[in-house]
Amino acid sequence: MRTQLDNRIRSALDERISAGLYRQKQVFEHSGVRFQTGQVTAPYLNFASNDYLGLANDAELAKSFQRNVERFGAGSAASPVVTGHGQPHQELEDTLCDWLGYPAALLMSSGFAANQAVLFSLMQKGDVIVEDKLSHASLIEAGVLSPATLKRFKHNSVSHLDSLLSQQSRLERGGVKLIVTESVFSMDGDISPAEAIQQVCTKYDATLLVDDAHGCGVLGDGRGVVSQGCRPDILIVTFGKAFGLMGAAILASREIIDYLRQFARHYVYSTAIPPSLSATLIDAVSMIRNQSWRREKLAELTECYNRSLSCFDEVIATDTPIKPVILGSISRLNAVSDSLKKSGLWTGSIRPPTVPPNTARLRITLSANHSLDDVRHLSNALSHALNEEVV
Ligand SMILES: *Cc1c(COP(=O)(O)O)cnc(C)c1O
Repeated sequence: MRTQLDNRIRSALDERISAGLYRQKQVFEHSGVRFQTGQVTAPYLNFASNDYLGLANDAELAKSFQRNVERFGAGSAASPVVTGHGQPHQELEDTLCDWLGYPAALLMSSGFAANQAVLFSLMQKGDVIVEDKLSHASLIEAGVLSPATLKRFKHNSVSHLDSLLSQQSRLERGGVKLIVTESVFSMDGDISPAEAIQQVCTKYDATLLVDDAHGCGVLGDGRGVVSQGCRPDILIVTFGKAFGLMGAAILASREIIDYLRQFARHYVYSTAIPPSLSATLIDAVSMIRNQSWRREKLAELTECYNRSLSCFDEVIATDTPIKPVILGSISRLNAVSDSLKKSGLWTGSIRPPTVPPNTARLRITLSANHSLDDVRHLSNALSHALNEEVV
Protein backbone atom coordinates (compact mmCIF):
# COMPACT_ATOMS: atom_id res chain seq x y z
CA MET A 1 0.00 0.00 0.00
CA ARG A 2 1.23 3.49 -0.80
CA THR A 3 1.75 5.66 2.23
CA GLN A 4 1.14 9.37 2.44
CA LEU A 5 4.90 9.83 2.20
CA ASP A 6 5.07 7.75 -1.02
CA ASN A 7 2.42 9.99 -2.58
CA ARG A 8 4.14 13.19 -1.54
CA ILE A 9 7.45 11.98 -2.96
CA ARG A 10 5.87 10.83 -6.23
CA SER A 11 4.19 14.16 -6.86
CA ALA A 12 7.38 16.13 -6.08
CA LEU A 13 9.33 13.93 -8.51
CA ASP A 14 6.65 14.27 -11.20
CA GLU A 15 6.70 18.03 -10.81
CA ARG A 16 10.47 18.09 -11.27
CA ILE A 17 10.24 15.91 -14.37
CA SER A 18 7.50 17.95 -16.04
CA ALA A 19 9.38 21.20 -15.34
CA GLY A 20 12.41 19.72 -17.10
CA LEU A 21 14.42 20.05 -13.86
CA TYR A 22 14.92 16.38 -13.03
CA ARG A 23 18.55 15.58 -12.20
CA GLN A 24 19.79 12.51 -14.01
CA LYS A 25 22.41 10.32 -12.39
CA GLN A 26 25.57 10.14 -14.48
CA VAL A 27 28.48 7.81 -13.81
CA PHE A 28 31.86 9.33 -14.64
CA GLU A 29 35.16 7.64 -15.06
CA HIS A 30 37.34 10.53 -14.11
CA SER A 31 40.79 11.18 -15.43
CA GLY A 32 41.34 14.91 -15.28
CA VAL A 33 40.20 17.26 -17.99
CA ARG A 34 39.40 14.33 -20.26
CA PHE A 35 36.88 11.83 -19.02
CA GLN A 36 34.72 8.98 -20.12
CA THR A 37 31.04 8.42 -19.48
CA GLY A 38 28.52 5.99 -20.90
CA GLN A 39 29.21 4.15 -24.15
CA VAL A 40 30.85 6.93 -26.16
CA THR A 41 34.20 6.00 -27.62
CA ALA A 42 36.11 9.27 -27.43
CA PRO A 43 36.55 11.01 -24.07
CA TYR A 44 34.85 14.31 -23.34
CA LEU A 45 36.77 17.44 -22.52
CA ASN A 46 35.66 18.42 -19.03
CA PHE A 47 34.65 22.07 -18.67
CA ALA A 48 32.38 21.46 -15.70
CA SER A 49 34.55 20.68 -12.66
CA ASN A 50 35.75 22.96 -9.87
CA ASP A 51 39.31 21.68 -10.22
CA TYR A 52 40.57 25.15 -11.18
CA LEU A 53 44.25 24.52 -10.49
CA GLY A 54 44.26 20.95 -11.80
CA LEU A 55 45.24 19.47 -8.44
CA ALA A 56 42.48 16.83 -8.18
CA ASN A 57 44.31 14.62 -10.66
CA ASP A 58 47.83 15.85 -10.10
CA ALA A 59 50.26 12.92 -9.95
CA GLU A 60 52.43 14.51 -7.26
CA LEU A 61 49.45 15.19 -4.99
CA ALA A 62 48.03 11.68 -5.57
CA LYS A 63 51.43 10.21 -4.53
CA SER A 64 51.44 12.37 -1.43
CA PHE A 65 47.97 11.02 -0.54
CA GLN A 66 49.22 7.43 -0.96
CA ARG A 67 52.25 8.03 1.25
CA ASN A 68 50.07 9.68 3.87
CA VAL A 69 47.59 6.81 3.94
CA GLU A 70 50.50 4.43 4.53
CA ARG A 71 51.83 6.62 7.28
CA PHE A 72 48.62 7.66 9.07
CA GLY A 73 46.10 4.98 8.10
CA ALA A 74 42.77 5.42 6.39
CA GLY A 75 40.44 7.17 8.82
CA SER A 76 40.38 9.42 11.88
CA ALA A 77 38.03 7.10 13.80
CA ALA A 78 36.52 9.81 16.02
CA SER A 79 35.22 13.33 16.40
CA PRO A 80 37.97 15.93 16.73
CA VAL A 81 36.86 16.57 20.34
CA VAL A 82 37.40 12.88 21.22
CA THR A 83 40.51 11.35 19.60
CA GLY A 84 40.07 12.46 15.97
CA HIS A 85 42.35 15.54 16.03
CA GLY A 86 45.88 14.32 15.27
CA GLN A 87 49.22 15.88 14.47
CA PRO A 88 48.41 16.30 10.73
CA HIS A 89 45.19 18.14 11.64
CA GLN A 90 47.07 20.48 13.96
CA GLU A 91 49.75 21.08 11.34
CA LEU A 92 47.16 21.85 8.68
CA GLU A 93 45.43 24.37 10.97
CA ASP A 94 48.80 25.98 11.74
CA THR A 95 49.73 26.06 8.04
CA LEU A 96 46.45 27.75 7.09
CA CYS A 97 46.82 30.33 9.90
CA ASP A 98 50.36 31.14 8.83
CA TRP A 99 49.44 31.38 5.14
CA LEU A 100 46.23 33.38 5.45
CA GLY A 101 47.22 35.48 8.46
CA TYR A 102 44.77 34.32 11.12
CA PRO A 103 45.43 33.41 14.76
CA ALA A 104 43.22 30.30 14.77
CA ALA A 105 41.50 27.79 12.51
CA LEU A 106 39.03 24.92 12.80
CA LEU A 107 38.88 22.05 10.30
CA MET A 108 35.46 20.91 9.12
CA SER A 109 34.39 17.95 7.00
CA SER A 110 32.79 20.18 4.33
CA GLY A 111 32.16 23.77 3.37
CA PHE A 112 28.45 23.14 3.69
CA ALA A 113 28.94 22.07 7.31
CA ALA A 114 31.34 24.96 8.03
CA ASN A 115 28.83 27.57 6.86
CA GLN A 116 26.00 26.02 8.80
CA ALA A 117 28.14 25.56 11.91
CA VAL A 118 29.07 29.24 12.01
CA LEU A 119 25.58 30.63 11.38
CA PHE A 120 23.80 28.21 13.69
CA SER A 121 26.17 28.46 16.62
CA LEU A 122 27.02 32.17 16.58
CA MET A 123 23.64 33.72 15.87
CA GLN A 124 20.75 34.10 18.31
CA LYS A 125 17.26 35.58 18.46
CA GLY A 126 17.42 39.36 18.18
CA ASP A 127 20.49 39.22 15.91
CA VAL A 128 20.42 40.00 12.21
CA ILE A 129 22.13 38.20 9.33
CA VAL A 130 22.53 40.21 6.12
CA GLU A 131 23.48 38.03 3.14
CA ASP A 132 24.23 38.72 -0.49
CA LYS A 133 21.19 37.60 -2.51
CA LEU A 134 23.24 35.09 -4.49
CA SER A 135 24.88 33.38 -1.51
CA HIS A 136 25.39 29.61 -1.59
CA ALA A 137 22.51 27.31 -0.61
CA SER A 138 24.26 26.36 2.66
CA LEU A 139 24.35 30.02 3.75
CA ILE A 140 20.81 30.82 2.62
CA GLU A 141 19.40 27.74 4.34
CA ALA A 142 21.22 28.43 7.61
CA GLY A 143 20.04 32.04 7.46
CA VAL A 144 16.43 31.02 6.90
CA LEU A 145 16.46 28.45 9.72
CA SER A 146 18.40 30.65 12.16
CA PRO A 147 16.54 32.27 15.09
CA ALA A 148 18.17 35.53 13.93
CA THR A 149 16.40 37.76 11.36
CA LEU A 150 17.59 37.18 7.79
CA LYS A 151 17.93 40.10 5.38
CA ARG A 152 19.43 39.97 1.92
CA PHE A 153 21.21 42.71 0.02
CA LYS A 154 21.23 43.09 -3.76
CA HIS A 155 24.00 41.11 -5.36
CA ASN A 156 27.35 42.86 -4.78
CA SER A 157 25.59 46.14 -3.92
CA VAL A 158 27.60 47.96 -1.25
CA SER A 159 25.07 50.81 -1.22
CA HIS A 160 22.12 48.49 -0.60
CA LEU A 161 24.03 46.79 2.22
CA ASP A 162 24.80 50.22 3.68
CA SER A 163 21.14 51.26 3.58
CA LEU A 164 19.97 48.00 5.22
CA LEU A 165 22.50 48.46 8.01
CA SER A 166 21.62 52.11 8.43
CA GLN A 167 17.92 51.17 8.78
CA GLN A 168 18.90 48.54 11.29
CA SER A 169 20.88 50.99 13.39
CA ARG A 170 17.99 53.50 13.33
CA LEU A 171 15.83 50.80 14.92
CA GLU A 172 18.42 50.90 17.71
CA ARG A 173 17.95 47.28 18.50
CA GLY A 174 20.83 45.53 20.16
CA GLY A 175 22.00 42.25 18.77
CA VAL A 176 24.83 41.04 16.61
CA LYS A 177 24.95 41.99 12.93
CA LEU A 178 26.59 39.36 10.73
CA ILE A 179 27.26 40.24 7.09
CA VAL A 180 27.67 37.26 4.80
CA THR A 181 29.09 37.19 1.29
CA GLU A 182 31.40 35.21 -1.00
CA SER A 183 34.61 36.25 -2.70
CA VAL A 184 33.76 34.70 -6.08
CA PHE A 185 30.16 33.73 -6.82
CA SER A 186 29.85 30.13 -7.89
CA MET A 187 27.23 30.49 -10.64
CA ASP A 188 28.24 33.93 -11.98
CA GLY A 189 32.01 33.93 -11.59
CA ASP A 190 32.05 37.58 -10.53
CA ILE A 191 34.17 38.96 -7.71
CA SER A 192 32.58 40.70 -4.74
CA PRO A 193 33.68 44.19 -3.64
CA ALA A 194 34.93 42.62 -0.42
CA GLU A 195 37.14 45.49 0.68
CA ALA A 196 34.29 48.02 0.37
CA ILE A 197 31.93 45.61 2.16
CA GLN A 198 34.43 45.36 4.98
CA GLN A 199 34.46 49.16 5.31
CA VAL A 200 30.66 49.20 5.61
CA CYS A 201 30.88 46.50 8.29
CA THR A 202 33.35 48.60 10.27
CA LYS A 203 31.08 51.65 9.97
CA TYR A 204 28.12 49.79 11.51
CA ASP A 205 30.05 47.59 13.96
CA ALA A 206 29.03 44.47 12.03
CA THR A 207 30.92 41.18 11.78
CA LEU A 208 31.94 40.03 8.29
CA LEU A 209 31.92 36.42 7.08
CA VAL A 210 33.33 35.66 3.63
CA ASP A 211 32.94 32.25 2.02
CA ASP A 212 36.09 31.94 -0.11
CA ALA A 213 35.17 28.57 -1.69
CA HIS A 214 35.93 29.73 -5.25
CA GLY A 215 38.50 32.40 -4.44
CA CYS A 216 41.05 30.66 -2.25
CA GLY A 217 43.82 29.25 -4.43
CA VAL A 218 42.69 31.28 -7.44
CA LEU A 219 42.53 35.02 -6.67
CA GLY A 220 45.64 37.18 -6.36
CA ASP A 221 48.67 35.29 -5.10
CA GLY A 222 46.42 32.35 -4.23
CA ARG A 223 45.30 33.65 -0.85
CA GLY A 224 41.88 34.48 -2.27
CA VAL A 225 39.93 37.30 -0.68
CA VAL A 226 42.78 38.01 1.75
CA SER A 227 45.00 38.96 -1.19
CA GLN A 228 42.28 41.41 -2.33
CA GLY A 229 42.79 43.72 0.65
CA CYS A 230 39.96 42.27 2.74
CA ARG A 231 40.37 40.52 6.06
CA PRO A 232 37.00 39.07 7.06
CA ASP A 233 36.36 38.45 10.78
CA ILE A 234 35.38 34.93 9.76
CA LEU A 235 36.87 33.32 6.66
CA ILE A 236 35.60 30.05 5.21
CA VAL A 237 37.92 28.14 2.88
CA THR A 238 36.89 24.88 1.25
CA PHE A 239 39.16 22.14 -0.05
CA GLY A 240 36.88 20.65 -2.72
CA LYS A 241 37.56 23.28 -5.36
CA ALA A 242 41.02 24.71 -6.08
CA PHE A 243 42.63 22.40 -3.46
CA GLY A 244 41.45 19.38 -5.46
CA LEU A 245 40.49 17.40 -2.34
CA MET A 246 37.68 17.87 0.18
CA GLY A 247 36.92 19.36 3.58
CA ALA A 248 36.96 22.96 4.79
CA ALA A 249 38.30 25.31 7.45
CA ILE A 250 36.99 28.26 9.42
CA LEU A 251 39.57 30.96 10.22
CA ALA A 252 38.93 33.65 12.82
CA SER A 253 40.07 35.06 16.16
CA ARG A 254 41.19 32.65 18.87
CA GLU A 255 38.03 33.36 20.83
CA ILE A 256 35.62 32.71 17.96
CA ILE A 257 37.39 29.46 17.11
CA ASP A 258 37.48 28.45 20.77
CA TYR A 259 33.74 29.15 21.00
CA LEU A 260 33.01 27.11 17.84
CA ARG A 261 35.08 24.22 19.19
CA GLN A 262 32.78 24.17 22.22
CA PHE A 263 29.41 24.89 20.64
CA ALA A 264 29.38 24.08 16.90
CA ARG A 265 27.43 20.84 16.62
CA HIS A 266 28.66 20.18 13.06
CA TYR A 267 32.16 20.06 14.55
CA VAL A 268 31.61 18.33 17.88
CA TYR A 269 29.29 15.57 16.69
CA SER A 270 30.96 14.69 13.40
CA THR A 271 33.95 12.53 12.50
CA ALA A 272 37.22 14.38 11.87
CA ILE A 273 38.56 14.29 8.31
CA PRO A 274 41.16 11.53 7.82
CA PRO A 275 44.68 12.41 9.03
CA SER A 276 45.97 11.29 5.62
CA LEU A 277 43.71 13.88 3.99
CA SER A 278 44.95 16.58 6.40
CA ALA A 279 48.55 15.76 5.61
CA THR A 280 47.84 15.82 1.87
CA LEU A 281 46.07 19.17 2.21
CA ILE A 282 49.30 20.60 3.68
CA ASP A 283 51.02 19.59 0.43
CA ALA A 284 48.15 21.11 -1.58
CA VAL A 285 48.65 24.39 0.28
CA SER A 286 52.33 24.43 -0.58
CA MET A 287 51.57 23.68 -4.25
CA ILE A 288 49.05 26.52 -4.28
CA ARG A 289 51.58 28.87 -2.66
CA ASN A 290 54.56 27.91 -4.79
CA GLN A 291 53.18 26.91 -8.19
CA SER A 292 52.01 30.29 -9.42
CA TRP A 293 52.22 28.95 -12.99
CA ARG A 294 48.82 27.37 -12.40
CA ARG A 295 47.22 30.79 -11.84
CA GLU A 296 49.20 32.28 -14.75
CA LYS A 297 47.93 29.51 -16.99
CA LEU A 298 44.35 30.19 -15.90
CA ALA A 299 44.81 33.89 -16.69
CA GLU A 300 46.04 32.99 -20.17
CA LEU A 301 43.10 30.63 -20.81
CA THR A 302 40.66 33.21 -19.45
CA GLU A 303 42.03 35.86 -21.77
CA CYS A 304 41.67 33.53 -24.77
CA TYR A 305 38.10 32.56 -23.81
CA ASN A 306 36.94 36.14 -23.14
CA ARG A 307 38.48 37.43 -26.37
CA SER A 308 37.17 34.66 -28.64
CA LEU A 309 33.59 34.96 -27.43
CA SER A 310 33.30 38.70 -26.81
CA CYS A 311 30.68 39.17 -29.56
CA PHE A 312 28.03 37.10 -27.76
CA ASP A 313 25.77 38.80 -25.20
CA GLU A 314 25.09 35.44 -23.59
CA VAL A 315 28.75 34.91 -22.79
CA ILE A 316 29.76 36.73 -19.62
CA ALA A 317 33.45 37.68 -19.59
CA THR A 318 34.69 37.16 -16.03
CA ASP A 319 38.12 37.48 -14.39
CA THR A 320 37.77 34.06 -12.76
CA PRO A 321 37.72 30.51 -14.16
CA ILE A 322 33.90 30.44 -13.82
CA LYS A 323 32.29 31.39 -17.16
CA PRO A 324 28.50 31.60 -17.28
CA VAL A 325 26.66 31.54 -20.60
CA ILE A 326 23.18 32.83 -19.80
CA LEU A 327 20.66 31.14 -22.11
CA GLY A 328 17.39 31.89 -20.31
CA SER A 329 15.09 29.00 -21.11
CA ILE A 330 15.73 25.38 -20.25
CA SER A 331 15.03 24.26 -23.83
CA ARG A 332 17.70 26.61 -25.19
CA LEU A 333 20.11 25.48 -22.48
CA ASN A 334 19.54 21.84 -23.39
CA ALA A 335 19.97 22.53 -27.11
CA VAL A 336 23.30 24.35 -26.68
CA SER A 337 24.54 21.81 -24.15
CA ASP A 338 23.66 18.89 -26.48
CA SER A 339 25.37 20.60 -29.37
CA LEU A 340 28.56 20.97 -27.28
CA LYS A 341 28.35 17.32 -26.21
CA LYS A 342 28.29 16.33 -29.87
CA SER A 343 31.60 18.19 -30.20
CA GLY A 344 33.00 16.25 -27.24
CA LEU A 345 32.63 19.06 -24.70
CA TRP A 346 31.10 18.58 -21.27
CA THR A 347 29.80 21.73 -19.56
CA GLY A 348 27.65 22.29 -16.49
CA SER A 349 23.91 22.88 -17.03
CA ILE A 350 22.55 25.03 -14.24
CA ARG A 351 18.81 25.44 -13.94
CA PRO A 352 16.45 27.15 -11.50
CA PRO A 353 16.14 26.88 -8.50
CA THR A 354 19.95 26.89 -8.31
CA VAL A 355 19.83 30.18 -10.29
CA PRO A 356 16.97 32.73 -10.59
CA PRO A 357 14.05 31.93 -12.95
CA ASN A 358 14.73 32.49 -16.68
CA THR A 359 18.49 32.54 -16.20
CA ALA A 360 19.21 28.89 -16.99
CA ARG A 361 22.84 28.78 -18.02
CA LEU A 362 25.88 26.83 -18.99
CA ARG A 363 28.45 26.97 -16.24
CA ILE A 364 31.77 26.60 -18.00
CA THR A 365 34.85 26.27 -15.83
CA LEU A 366 38.48 26.47 -16.83
CA SER A 367 41.29 24.46 -15.29
CA ALA A 368 45.04 24.93 -15.33
CA ASN A 369 45.11 21.49 -16.96
CA HIS A 370 43.34 22.75 -20.09
CA SER A 371 45.46 23.79 -23.05
CA LEU A 372 44.92 26.85 -25.22
CA ASP A 373 43.81 24.44 -27.94
CA ASP A 374 41.17 22.99 -25.61
CA VAL A 375 39.80 26.49 -25.02
CA ARG A 376 39.90 27.30 -28.77
CA HIS A 377 37.97 24.11 -29.49
CA LEU A 378 35.39 25.13 -26.87
CA SER A 379 35.11 28.68 -28.24
CA ASN A 380 34.60 27.45 -31.80
CA ALA A 381 31.94 24.92 -30.81
CA LEU A 382 30.14 27.41 -28.59
CA SER A 383 30.20 30.13 -31.28
CA HIS A 384 28.79 27.61 -33.72
CA ALA A 385 26.00 26.57 -31.33
CA LEU A 386 25.05 30.15 -30.47
CA ASN A 387 25.16 31.31 -34.11
CA GLU A 388 23.03 28.40 -35.23
CA GLU A 389 20.36 29.53 -32.73
CA VAL A 390 19.74 25.93 -31.89
CA VAL A 391 16.24 25.85 -30.38
C1 LIG B 1 30.96 24.29 -2.92
C2 LIG B 1 30.58 25.42 -2.01
C3 LIG B 1 30.33 25.21 -0.66
C4 LIG B 1 30.27 23.84 -0.08
O1 LIG B 1 31.53 23.32 0.11
P1 LIG B 1 31.71 21.73 0.18
O2 LIG B 1 33.03 21.58 0.82
O3 LIG B 1 31.63 21.23 -1.19
O4 LIG B 1 30.59 21.23 1.06
C5 LIG B 1 30.09 26.31 0.14
N1 LIG B 1 30.06 27.56 -0.38
C6 LIG B 1 30.26 27.79 -1.68
C7 LIG B 1 30.22 29.18 -2.19
C8 LIG B 1 30.52 26.72 -2.54
O5 LIG B 1 30.67 26.94 -3.83
